[in-house]
This record gives sequence, C-alpha cells and structure tokens, in this order.
Amino acid sequence: MLNMNKVAGINVDRVQTIIADTCKNANRDKGEITIVGVTKYTDANGIISCVEAGINDIGENKAQDAIAKIDELPLNHKRNIKWHFIGHLQTNKVKYIVPHFSLIHSLDRLSLAKEINKQAIKLDITVECLIQVNVSGEQTKYGVAINEALEFARNLEQYERIKIVGLMTMAPYFNDPELARPVFSRLRCLKEEIAQLSLANYDMKHLSMGMSNDFVVAIEEGATIVRLGSILFNNN
Ligand SMILES: *Cc1c(COP(=O)(O)O)cnc(C)c1O
Repeated sequence: MLNMNKVAGINVDRVQTIIADTCKNANRDKGEITIVGVTKYTDANGIISCVEAGINDIGENKAQDAIAKIDELPLNHKRNIKWHFIGHLQTNKVKYIVPHFSLIHSLDRLSLAKEINKQAIKLDITVECLIQVNVSGEQTKYGVAINEALEFARNLEQYERIKIVGLMTMAPYFNDPELARPVFSRLRCLKEEIAQLSLANYDMKHLSMGMSNDFVVAIEEGATIVRLGSILFNNN
C-alpha cells in the first residue's frame, strides 16, 4: 500500500488522486495500477524521495546512470526498491542490469533476448521482461514493429530463463493525449493476441503504457504500469 506522506518535490498525492478518479470512471480497481517513478531526471536523492513517498517501483533508462545511483543509495532504501529498466538496452550492458532489475520493459530484439538469457543462466535466475512494441511506427522509436510482434513472441519461447509478462509501448507525444488512445488500444489487442498463442514462459498480465502527458488515457485503455517522471518531479 502507498502511504500518503508528503515529500517535498514529489507530487505523489496529486498523481494518486488522478489515478483514483480515472479508475473510478473507467470501472477499474486502482490497485491494478503500478506507478513506476521515473528518476532519470534526478540523482539518488530523487529516488529516496520517491521511496519515502511510497513509490517503490523505480524506472531508469540508462544503464550507467542507473548503476551509479544504485551504488549511491543507502541499503535501507535499496532493499525496498523494485527496479524497472525502461530505456533502450545495449547488449553489452545486460550483465550490469540483470542482477539489479526486476523487470526489463524494453525487450525488442532476439540478440538482446539471447544475452539476457545467458546472464540469467549465470545467476541462476529467471528475468521478467516486457516486449517493447513500436505501435506508432515512428522511426525515432525503439520496439518491435506491430506486424512482427507475433513472430517475435514465438521466437522468444526458446529462451527459457526469460519470462514475458506483457507489453510496453511509448506513444508519440501529442498536445492532445486523446490522440494517443488508438496506440494504447492497439497494444491491448496485441496483448490478447499473444496471450492466445499460449506460449511457454508467458504470463501476459501487464501493459506498461502511459507517461506524464498521457497516462490518464493509457489507464482508460488498460494500462497496468504507468511510467511517470516529470509529473512527479515538476513543482508546477
Ligand atoms: C522518460 C521516460 C518516461 C517518463 O516520461 P515523463 O513524460 O517525464 O513522465 C517514461 N517512459 C520512458 C521509456 C522514458 O524514457
């Protein structure tokens, strides 16, 4: 459960209220939604503020920055954190990420899967991942193309130390977040299509979608994980 302590600079109460209202209107249980506090804009103190405000799921998008911050954190905070790797993951950084991170949101190519699987075998663990899908087809975005996603999902079955627990996408930035809705609903349909394949090592329970500007629409379309940075840290 989240506590509602007010921590300077972190707008947790405001975000919680928006999520509660959105869930109510959408007939969803707000307990289904996990907030990942994206701390790429801050130092280790930002992470501590998140944890003290009750956000224990922390997202970082750059391997080197993430590891540096993890090293800096005091043990009592580190123990409580569930780390989410949300950025593009270079294959040569996998060995640094796998030991610390609970969920990798950005699995988007087989060479990456192969390396994650290899590191998981070394540590004798299973690594939970989301398949990142480039729903919008923007050239600047990472992710598997939508029309290649089913085949990609089938190909991942061979990596026994990877457990796929859902899908992730980033919508293009729109001034009107309503315009992101088709991207999110498409990802939800794709999640169902992949679930119907009944692949080994799959549990298609998560949709990681929605950022500060569009998380309300994403929740309306079924998001279970929202990745929030600027709305938590901006004092506007
Ligand atoms: C930075 C980032 C976010 C958070 O973005 P905000 O708009 O600041 O909420 C979410 N997801 C990913 C992959 C990011 O890189």
